[in-house]
Amino acid sequence: MKTIAIAIDGPAASGKGTLAKRVAAEFGLRYLDTGSLYRAAGLATLRADGDPADPVAATKAAETLDIDWFSAGDLRGELAGNAASKVAAIPGVRAALLDYQRRYAAVAPGAVLDGRDIGTVVLPNADVKIFAQADFEVRVARRVAELRAGGQTIIESRVREDMAARDARDSSRSVAPLVPAQDAWILDTSALNADEAFAQAKAYIASKIG
Ligand code: C5P
Repeated sequence: MKTIAIAIDGPAASGKGTLAKRVAAEFGLRYLDTGSLYRAAGLATLRADGDPADPVAATKAAETLDIDWFSAGDLRGELAGNAASKVAAIPGVRAALLDYQRRYAAVAPGAVLDGRDIGTVVLPNADVKIFAQADFEVRVARRVAELRAGGQTIIESRVREDMAARDARDSSRSVAPLVPAQDAWILDTSALNADEAFAQAKAYIASKIG
């Protein structure tokens, strides 16, 4: 049986996670949030008193990553997000997590993976590639609302600074930078709510895989 692979990439708070989950449910596919792998590796590095920017400490954490980290309560917080974007720039970390992602996608009936480099590096032959993007201030407002809804006390200017720094790190790193694959379909979600973004993506995916 042929498996289906759908890659959904984009920057933080572009709407890719919400979209990817709904797409997976709609098309009966498995779903992997690859950002949580990097978040888990970032937190594991910190918990071992390592610096997320240190290649030796971060690579060791990624190579010995425990699947239990996926349920760690603070995985979605800004501490984890910032540590993730530091460890994610280290080639040894990316190499340690690559195989897991590919094996996940290869299991029938296939999967939707969301991240930064799914269409370019992890699954270059994906059946469908979507690159979600949104204006910077729209993404800041979404992230602020998301963190507040999760009960966190946050300072909006800090979120804005962190997101700008994370965008810059993700886009400028030499290994697997955040760029749309050449054959990706660009979905700008700035003026779309989650239902509208899903409707557009669903129609596009249906046109590609039937
Ligand atoms: O998507 P999320 O915000 O959870 O990702 C956290 C960080 O993990 C990103 O800022 C990015 O640096 C890194 N990441 C990555 N490649 C992926 C997924 C996430 O480099 N495929």
